[in-house]
Amino acid sequence: MSEETLSNLLNETRRFPPPAELAATANVTEEAYRQAAADRLGFWAEQAARLHWEQPWDEVLDWSDRPFARWFTGGRLNVAYNCVDRHVEAGHGEQIAIHFEGEPGDSRSVSYAELQREVCRAANALTELGVVAGDRVAIYMPMIPETVVAMLACARIGAPHSVVFAAFSAAALRSRIDDAEAKVLITADGYHRRGTVVDLKPQADEAVDGAESIEKVLVVRRTGQQVPWQDGRDLWWHELTDRQSDQHTAEAFDSEHPLFILYTSGTTGRPKGILHTTGGYLTQVSYTHHAVFDLKPDTDVYWCTADVGWVTGHSYIVYGPLSNRATQVLYEGTPDTPDRGRFWHNVAKYKVSILYTAPTAIRTFMKWGGDIPAKSDLSSLRILGSVGEPINPEAWIWYREHIGGGRCPIVDTWWQTETGAMMIAPLPGVAATKPGSAMRPLPGISAQVVTNAGVPVPDGGGGLLVLDQPWPSMLRGVWGDPERFRDTYWSRFPEQGYYFAGDGAKKDADGDLWLLGRVDDIMLVSGHNISTTEVESALVSHPAVAEAAVVGAKDETTGQRIVSFVILRGGREEDPGLDAELKAHVTKEIGPIARPRQIQFVAELPKTRSGKIMRRLLKDVAEERSLGDTTTLTDASVMDLIAAKLPHAA
Ligand code: ATP
Ligand code: MG
Repeated sequence: MSEETLSNLLNETRRFPPPAELAATANVTEEAYRQAAADRLGFWAEQAARLHWEQPWDEVLDWSDRPFARWFTGGRLNVAYNCVDRHVEAGHGEQIAIHFEGEPGDSRSVSYAELQREVCRAANALTELGVVAGDRVAIYMPMIPETVVAMLACARIGAPHSVVFAAFSAAALRSRIDDAEAKVLITADGYHRRGTVVDLKPQADEAVDGAESIEKVLVVRRTGQQVPWQDGRDLWWHELTDRQSDQHTAEAFDSEHPLFILYTSGTTGRPKGILHTTGGYLTQVSYTHHAVFDLKPDTDVYWCTADVGWVTGHSYIVYGPLSNRATQVLYEGTPDTPDRGRFWHNVAKYKVSILYTAPTAIRTFMKWGGDIPAKSDLSSLRILGSVGEPINPEAWIWYREHIGGGRCPIVDTWWQTETGAMMIAPLPGVAATKPGSAMRPLPGISAQVVTNAGVPVPDGGGGLLVLDQPWPSMLRGVWGDPERFRDTYWSRFPEQGYYFAGDGAKKDADGDLWLLGRVDDIMLVSGHNISTTEVESALVSHPAVAEAAVVGAKDETTGQRIVSFVILRGGREEDPGLDAELKAHVTKEIGPIARPRQIQFVAELPKTRSGKIMRRLLKDVAEERSLGDTTTLTDASVMDLIAAKLPHAA
């Protein structure tokens, strides 16, 4: 940004206080903020004590080698023991850990006792293959229980995993295998998606062909299709694990032992291999899951719809929920198979009470219409979560009304692969939520909105979001690249020592935070900094619009011009008056400064596999450049369609 602050444009005044019953029984109350403010490290020590430590820590935080933090130094624990065994030992072995719902409709429920046996067998199997603590294991798997088992087995023996989205290409998998020098790859024959069987093994083969570090490939049988096979290298998961003992003694690892490497979504550029470690990570994912979802392990049924291949799946399908003894749903497929009501059939079938999904999904459901969820019994729901992108106020309200029946609080959770766990989010029993606001930093977390010079902006102002205190689940680096770690996150405010997240935010009059998207995406139009998020939210608030992406393209007179790409809800595609109507609508909602110069109606937007809009590619198109890194794009052909439609004359 070349201006000191960001223009504060949209004005949202709706407020939703917590339901009285939830407020009265909430796991975490306002008191937690007071306690954490009085003694931040003491607060985190108390949260760490929610876990089982084989050996207690000496020091809560060692920040002497900043930006490389060490949390709970000298402490030792086993992540898998904390997520599985201790619940069985406490008498909860019969409780269901995972209700697996396959896309074709097959289902299977796994209790904590069964999960323990499976994880032990898998840990013994990996050990038989020669995997020892510190070795890396790549996991290229669909959304099936074995994926969770594989991750926990790795954690159990101290072998950091690197999970790669099943929908990524062989080349993407290969570069991640090489970067981490993984010794073993765990994959599957295939999976079910959109009513068809998708191959996985051929891509896995292509990826490992010539990969020097890979010694063995373990293959889970999911679909039962024929697969290519290389004797000596490939092993069936079931053959290897079936003959293992279901007993395994978990060894405790140092609090700073590496737990996993995970690559960022690639929304802003080449993905970074983010490293997370053991004690601090588990402490914060466990606490935030307990606090923000108010999980009651005896009665709640939790469902996070993310793919396990991105950080939300790691922290809020595997480690957070299981450490809290959640009963959860794991769903293999897409929301529109066999019909557009699949998510709501799943909610009704398992009586899901806590649902965690992404704005991209919510906008899709809006486009499909409220009559679809209305056909299912959603009365079991009590809390709704959102993550991944800023949620447009209209999408927030739609989610609350059509999914939450007007009674469920919405927790909009801001965090990143790098932060490991939620950082900014309302507590459902405390906050009077505001549509589109992630509210304030969680207890024990400290964030600021600052100017380019690093000066905090007053309430009502906007600027750059920074984290000014270390947090337990913070990244410990970029794998193999300490320079990239310093450059990317710590070089913007070297004097203040802030972690710069890359996102813009504004503070409202109450000091609550509104995330405004990537700083790189913020537009400078005739001297005003305008966030893409706010213009998109204004467009989405028009009844004809389902989804919008906005970019600033170079312009000789105004610096940048606002170019928008709009997906309609259906019905008005042919209406020649709509272009002018939408421009007028943005002018009314925000002001003439934010009026898009161009509106392009499109059928799809370029998105990462995790569902985020890739504005940098739209900007490449708008400025007639060749496209940047597209390796994490869901469907590269979307860009050809968009490029073909955009008139460059403007
Ligand atoms: P890359 O870093 O490779 O460009 P990425 O930033 O998309 O990819 P993630 O770690 O998956 O990778 O996403 C984190 C980002 O997602 C945040 O920096 C923020 O921009 C956005 N985000 C996540 N949750 C929210 C939210 N609740 N509100 C607003 N933005 C969010
Ligand atoms: Mg990022």
